Amino acid sequence: MGSQEVSTVDWQGKHVTVAGLGVSGIPAARALHERGALVTVVNDGDDERARAQAAELEALGMTVRLGDGATLPPSTELVVTAPGWQPDKPLFLAAAEAGVPVWGDVELAWRLRGDNGRKSAPWLAVTGTNGKTTTVRMLASILEAAGLRTAAVGNIGVSLLDAVLGESEYDVLAVELSSYQLHWAPSLRAHSAAVLNLAPDHLDWHGSMEAYAADKGRVYEGNTVACVYNVADPATEDLVREADVEEGCRAIGFTLGAPGPSQLGVVDGILVDRAFVANRQKQAQELAEVTDVNPPAPHNIANALAAAALARAFGVEPAAVRDGLRAFRPDAHRIEHVADIGEVAYVDDSKATNTHATEASLAAYESIVWIAGGLAKGATFDELVTGAAKRLRGVVLMGADRALIHEALTRHAPEVPVVDLDRTDTGAMSEAVARAAELARPGDTVLLAPACASMDMFTNYNKRGEAFADAVRARADESA
Ligand code: ADP
Repeated sequence: MGSQEVSTVDWQGKHVTVAGLGVSGIPAARALHERGALVTVVNDGDDERARAQAAELEALGMTVRLGDGATLPPSTELVVTAPGWQPDKPLFLAAAEAGVPVWGDVELAWRLRGDNGRKSAPWLAVTGTNGKTTTVRMLASILEAAGLRTAAVGNIGVSLLDAVLGESEYDVLAVELSSYQLHWAPSLRAHSAAVLNLAPDHLDWHGSMEAYAADKGRVYEGNTVACVYNVADPATEDLVREADVEEGCRAIGFTLGAPGPSQLGVVDGILVDRAFVANRQKQAQELAEVTDVNPPAPHNIANALAAAALARAFGVEPAAVRDGLRAFRPDAHRIEHVADIGEVAYVDDSKATNTHATEASLAAYESIVWIAGGLAKGATFDELVTGAAKRLRGVVLMGADRALIHEALTRHAPEVPVVDLDRTDTGAMSEAVARAAELARPGDTVLLAPACASMDMFTNYNKRGEAFADAVRARADESA
């Protein structure tokens, strides 16, 4: 089946169970109801908000069962689930036993695309443990620079269902997909896709590293033009090898080194393409300069190369890659430069919520006062600390699981001074910044890259990053 062929489902009278009232569940329920499906929504929670949402859906003629997300309604022919629902839930076991298919929000969007009579735009998909949002935004920026009608959608805040059923027409979509979404998207067939990297994350949900990798690898299934992998992360290339792709689809690598044939890489500070050129054995095409990437940290150059590879697979000209990268502005709290105070740079990478992201962040600076800690989510820190030890001027730790990081530092970097803040209140951040400032020397970077989730002390990583930036700005004002 060609990837752009739209499969039509006759929804009239079909019994569909929507699992989860939430950001994806409600639009899914509405879309299915509008198409004539008999929709039952099941939801674990039964709070006031859920009851208000249920009342709205019931008024339209849908059935809603609150406080019971476990039981499969008897006549169900299809389950459409919120992506976060764990696969071992009784509802899914019951569905499997009854031979009832389960789709996630992405699968539903994929199946419904084009059924409003509009042209269905091809998808350029990005997944990976870290860098997805950045890469998808870079990709959208490049596609826009090429004059294409596009949007960054998916796990990035704009739902795919809204994108495929909404008013706007697109030439191509830049799609961020999480491993959860891929798990529930069996028939998705992207034009081209990239897996940026693979490090252990969300293993409690997937059950094992193998299952997590397999779900990420689904993004390559049925690709028509290019499967983009990370040369430095052979697990991503393994996934390409295992994928069942369309005839003629190519494996394209990206590397921070000089590229081989069918790769994009870096030569003398220039991003070059040796994949989508006429004579790739002998030629390479200049795309952009490393300094066009914002910020030009190594992991971010990798993201830019992956975005460029997908854009080139879609036929975008080199100049648009350069213009798109130049126009790109990173989202907040991702290696965000906050201020320089007394020749010390203060950088907010609150989004570094796992060790893999933090490793990339620590690799981007020469001499660092590192602020870390929070909820470890089962991670260990030995490898991270060993790799970064020689760059650490000092460390300030806070949050619930800070002892785990402290122990790793004692084992692998005993000479590095550590300030252990024995407090988890929100005000701890300004003390952390003050103590970091004491440790820093001119030319250093004070880097918030917690390697942990934020929820022990903050509502989310945004709030944590804001607390850091506020504390830094207050110091900058004082010293001005
Ligand atoms: P995601 O959407 O996958 O969570 P983001 O683009 O939001 O990724 O970046 C999250 C964090 O991961 C960043 O703050 C940065 O520290 C780190 N990061 C970004 N790109 C990479 C990469 N290619 N490899 C490793 N870490 C990365």
